[in-house]
Amino acid sequence: MAKVLIIGAGGVGNVVAHKCAMVSEVFEEITLASRTVSKCEEIAAAVKQRTGKEIATAQVDADNVPELVALIQKVQPDMVINVALPYQDLPIMDACLETKVHYLDTANYEPKDEAKFEYSWQWAYQEKFKEAGITAILGCGFDPGVTGVFTARAAKHFFDEMHYLDIVDCNAGDHGKAFATNFNPEINIREITQKGKYYENGEWVEIDAMSKHKAISYPNIGPRESYLLYHEELESLVKNYPTLKRARFWMTFGQAYLTHLEVMQNIGMTSIKPVKYQGMDIVPLEFLKAVLPEPSSLGENYTGETSIGCQIKGIKDGQEQTYYIWNNCSHQAAFDEVGGQGVAYTTGVPAMLGAKMFLEGKWDNGAGVFNVEEFNPDPFLAELGKYGLEWHEEVGGTLPHSYE
Ligand code: NDP
Repeated sequence: MAKVLIIGAGGVGNVVAHKCAMVSEVFEEITLASRTVSKCEEIAAAVKQRTGKEIATAQVDADNVPELVALIQKVQPDMVINVALPYQDLPIMDACLETKVHYLDTANYEPKDEAKFEYSWQWAYQEKFKEAGITAILGCGFDPGVTGVFTARAAKHFFDEMHYLDIVDCNAGDHGKAFATNFNPEINIREITQKGKYYENGEWVEIDAMSKHKAISYPNIGPRESYLLYHEELESLVKNYPTLKRARFWMTFGQAYLTHLEVMQNIGMTSIKPVKYQGMDIVPLEFLKAVLPEPSSLGENYTGETSIGCQIKGIKDGQEQTYYIWNNCSHQAAFDEVGGQGVAYTTGVPAMLGAKMFLEGKWDNGAGVFNVEEFNPDPFLAELGKYGLEWHEEVGGTLPHSYE
């Protein structure tokens, strides 16, 4: 029986709150805190209606360490689940250190003024977390998150050496809006407008954003144009699996999305550099976020599904081995269950399950800072389907796309 403090009441926070409430044999007491307390209250009311479970709410500015410390001291959680924005990772980790409370998040720290997507800042907390005797679980959403657990399963059960890894991420859903992002628009647009990058033969190869793409065929969906992006889990995966010769990440985008994005980039709306407007400093991307639909509002008429998986090639018992492991998630089913869309669902379920694994002692690497692939994948994957994300695998098949 444990107490958790969830920070962030957006699309993902809504799913985590619902899922923890549905597993009340583990998450006995739940507090949901965020900058705008009315959003926490709305979620708490929805959770009560769907599950019958009461959850507490609180207001917090998670950029402010003393405020966080005061809240943690009041709530006394066993673990903080951080599903606010990447900017808040370090203040929340600092507050966890001060109060000696375990930590989990779904996205790596980002400084506000540069798009970096790297783990260096959080990995630098390793010694401090060890000394404090607490654990940080980094990147426990879907990607990063389940993609790391999938890779860990491949390494543990199907390969002596993994050589080629392609993470393939398709959203074949339709929310009916001209342009909207499926998770926080600021982070999403920062991620896809930065240079593309992949790992090959010990080096990172940089390419122009969206310049490499091809049709990849996804289970139950078919071929979709997929673009090579840099995604943060590549950094930890190539570190933890040094036999990898190449690691890439592909994501689908529709033409209408790309056209909107191009126009917004061309007119400067995606910039993270402040501009002066009527005497004030305004960050164009922050303003753009304010006029775009909230990701948490997209669920109601969202049709179609996501498909995210790992395609791996390497060696087992001296023979070439191929392996594909994936999950497909229906936006509509997610909405029916927790009132959110599939991208929030595929992030929130693993965050709940990672916390559950840790609190039950099934993920026990001792104190320190860990990426998800460093934990035992078996107990997590044994329960992932039960909590809504059924997965499938094909061993030794013909990989559908990418080994040109
Ligand atoms: P949203 O923008 O919908 O929600 C973010 C929430 O964080 C909002 O409730 C917001 O409050 C709150 N917040 C922002 N700043 C602060 C602050 N200073 N103090 C307290 N609360 C704050 O984002 P999502 O739910 O879509 O995403 C949540 C996280 O999940 C992000 O870090 C995102 O990168 C990550 N993610 C990870 C994925 C994965 O697979 N690993 C996939 C998708 C998302 P307010 O309402 O006041 O703005």
